[in-house]
Amino acid sequence: MKRVFWCKNCVVMSTRPRVTFNKDGICSACQWMVEKKKLNWVKRQKQLDKLLNQQKSNKTFQCITAVSGGKDGSYITYNLKHKKKINPLAVTIRPPLEQELGKKNLNNFVRSGYQHIHVTPDETAMQKLNKLGFTDYGHPYYGWLVSIHTAVIRVAHEMNIPLVFYSEDGEVEYGGDAKYKYEGVYGVDYQASNYMEGFHKDILNKAKLTKEQAYWFTFPSKQDLKKTKIQITHWSFYENWDPYRNYMVAKKHCGLEESKSLNTGTYTNFGQTDQKLYFLHVYLMYLKYGFGRATMDAGIDVRRGAMSRDQAVQLVKLYDNAPPEDYYDEYCDYYKMKKNDFLQTIDKWANKNLFEKKNRWEPKFEIK
Ligand SMILES: [Zn+2]
Repeated sequence: MKRVFWCKNCVVMSTRPRVTFNKDGICSACQWMVEKKKLNWVKRQKQLDKLLNQQKSNKTFQCITAVSGGKDGSYITYNLKHKKKINPLAVTIRPPLEQELGKKNLNNFVRSGYQHIHVTPDETAMQKLNKLGFTDYGHPYYGWLVSIHTAVIRVAHEMNIPLVFYSEDGEVEYGGDAKYKYEGVYGVDYQASNYMEGFHKDILNKAKLTKEQAYWFTFPSKQDLKKTKIQITHWSFYENWDPYRNYMVAKKHCGLEESKSLNTGTYTNFGQTDQKLYFLHVYLMYLKYGFGRATMDAGIDVRRGAMSRDQAVQLVKLYDNAPPEDYYDEYCDYYKMKKNDFLQTIDKWANKNLFEKKNRWEPKFEIK
């Protein structure tokens, strides 16, 4: 059990996996924010141009962008097409329990002038992996999490487009393992070891999928990957990452619409509008580590100077503890679980050092 405290500058919590703090109690995300101001972005833009130039001989598409119809993927695809004047192929992996707004936003994005492939992995396999993820590992959409990596790489390999853009490196931007702070490009091995939570093989074995079902949930073979030599990178390496700016640009140029009400568990109404299991994911994150979506959103807002730390603390207190109860029946239907089993699974993942159960799980700590 880690000692519980919060960043002195923002609201990042000490329980966040892989986060570090300096001797003044400032988290790695805040330290990075300061460092970014002095960073040589011109040099990094040149690195980006070089990377894109290497793909010029690739006749039709010069890169792939992973998009959901949300602000970030739309923003980077817009920039690649209109600022960098290259032709990106946008790829979406259809999520479980899609939201209407997410579908609409994805359509709006495509109709703003982007070429796009929609991949729908086998839905039975997706459901199995998501359910096993929830019951056995505390990851309610593990199947989808895997496929947004493996299936995108499958498309890159099959279409021979060896450059793939993801939005931001969350580890560097929001506090975590900053291994790739100074190195922009990585390969499939790093992706597999860092984004699959270490139980990819395990869960595939448990799910007993057929070879056909497993296709989009697994990487191409090592031999195949040797041939294509896919390079993976994050846009946040080349330009100061600002989710709010991305939102404004996507709204203006890609038809992005925000939710009419506030999103569950936070005070914002944009971001993560594509699927409903996300709300369960952040609630489990809250029960496991003690911080939820409002902490993440408020941390970003403090670091970009849009909010004081005191305001952030108030918002965290108000919004973080938000069981997404309105969706529970839908979750039970999807997982094919009895309500009681579903609730017991949630209880199983609550960190009993941090929470105690009253009417609902209540924190034993208070953010200061
Ligand atoms: Zn901080």
